Amino acid sequence: MLSARELKVFYGVIQGLKGVDIEVNDREIVTLIGSNGAGKTSTLHGIVNLVRSSGQVRFLNEDISRRQTHQIVRRGLALVPEGRHIFTNLTIEENLRMGAYHNQAAFASLRDKMFALFPRLKERRNQMAGTMSGGEQQMLAIARALMGEPVLLMLDEPSLGLAPRIVGELFATIEQLRNENITILLVEQNASAALRIADRAYVLENGKTVLSGPAREMLDNPEIKRMYLGG
Ligand code: ATP
Repeated sequence: MLSARELKVFYGVIQGLKGVDIEVNDREIVTLIGSNGAGKTSTLHGIVNLVRSSGQVRFLNEDISRRQTHQIVRRGLALVPEGRHIFTNLTIEENLRMGAYHNQAAFASLRDKMFALFPRLKERRNQMAGTMSGGEQQMLAIARALMGEPVLLMLDEPSLGLAPRIVGELFATIEQLRNENITILLVEQNASAALRIADRAYVLENGKTVLSGPAREMLDNPEIKRMYLGG
């Protein structure tokens, strides 16, 4: 469904990515793990051309390397950025409406689908988004991205700042999305939680992919345990 070959990202003279190769197949959950600065966020931003990049990116059998971000999103590839970036002064329902801006006719049915998937958002539909808890705001950020009906959802550090119990709930929701036929590319600092729900994983170091394999094997890999899973 999605592939990146020799993906490089440039921040002025600084090279944020030096050659990342990844592949995500239909209905997979794939996770990218790596320490701070390894290039996880740059990979997601490079894929959707939010930053200056080179290399080949293919999505749904099409070369999207030179496409603009909004065109890529329209094709069905959505990004939930780190830090959520929801509209804190709008209600939950208004936030969802922003996510369906290109598809207003389908708004009500998509919103009801989101309320079924995230019951807490339904309870709070008229509440200002900024007054919700961190976990609820993350759910809203995901729901807002889903309002665009993506086939592939990229999540950047969704568990950041959330209490362990909420992280469990969030990851259960991510697994559920796969049952809704949504493919997931997940970036996480919380590598053990990510590897538990992922099918496959890539390890990034210094802007390059250095290892890939089934997530379960990664969980048992002594080197991965030592480096990323806290021993
Ligand atoms: P983190 O979890 O800390 O965000 P990451 O794995 O997502 O780490 P990136 O943020 O992609 O890593 O960073 C990859 C490299 O690019 C790092 O060396 C980082 O310092 C550099 N970099 C990222 N963003 C910028 C920027 N806006 N300007 C300059 N350099 C940047």
